[in-house]
Amino acid sequence: MTGELAGNSRCPLCGGRLQPGLATVPFLFSDAVVLIKNVPAEICSSCHEPYMTGPVTDRMIEMLKPLRHLRAEVLILSYEPQLVEQEVPTTEW
Ligand SMILES: [Zn+2]
Repeated sequence: MTGELAGNSRCPLCGGRLQPGLATVPFLFSDAVVLIKNVPAEICSSCHEPYMTGPVTDRMIEMLKPLRHLRAEVLILSYEPQLVEQEVPTTEW
């Protein structure tokens, strides 16, 4: 499966030109709504439909997994790139 879009892609819905930007992507669960903001996407300049690349979609699914256990009806998150394991700087006084 190749869900990735090349640089000069056009919107499958309306044929508009796609431009890189940040989108807010809603997810609907059975009893909850999750909005992920600041998702890097190719956004149609005509109908504003966002298209995410495969890795970005995978990352969003990773972010959503732990949320299924929360009993919230509406959640709003900001997209976070894949967390890279790194040493946390410690402040010593
Ligand atoms: Zn479009």
